[in-house]
Amino acid sequence: MDASTADIFASTSAFAFTSYFELFERLVPWFMENPWAFGLIVGALALISLIPARRAPRDPMRAFSREQRREGFTRAGNRCEFDGWVPFTRCESPAAHGDHFVPWSKGGATTMANFVAACARCNRRKASRRPSSGLTERIAHRRQRYFPQDVPRTPGQRFVRPRSPRLSKT
Ligand SMILES: [Zn+2]
Repeated sequence: MDASTADIFASTSAFAFTSYFELFERLVPWFMENPWAFGLIVGALALISLIPARRAPRDPMRAFSREQRREGFTRAGNRCEFDGWVPFTRCESPAAHGDHFVPWSKGGATTMANFVAACARCNRRKASRRPSSGLTERIAHRRQRYFPQDVPRTPGQRFVRPRSPRLSKT
């Protein structure tokens, strides 16, 4: 910090504080003398809150097709792939739903890589929660026993918006 910057800092009483309480003690009367500054801050915060939060892009395909469900159930042996009652076991119930492992509403893709066969109960219990890394590992591990050899076993895939064809052409 050069001398002139230090001088400016020292001369601005609000910045020459030793504790947050002291800062607060100095800021309050300063804001009472300069109400426009308070209005400016409130206005700026209001404007910032209007900026829409960036949401994960959603797959335009909401539901798995009949073919995807059939393929997903077959590769799971028509059985739910989620956890059973006993730790480290697999649910015994028959597959009834194609579960978006990364929830569709959270940017999960409607692809086979994001497909996990689920019974009605497990599907309802998982709802639209993001899967834990532990659950991901357990499913990937138990899939070694029943999954086709050439298919990646780790479940979960996010939807990636395809590049615009106009942009990729040169
Ligand atoms: Zn189940």
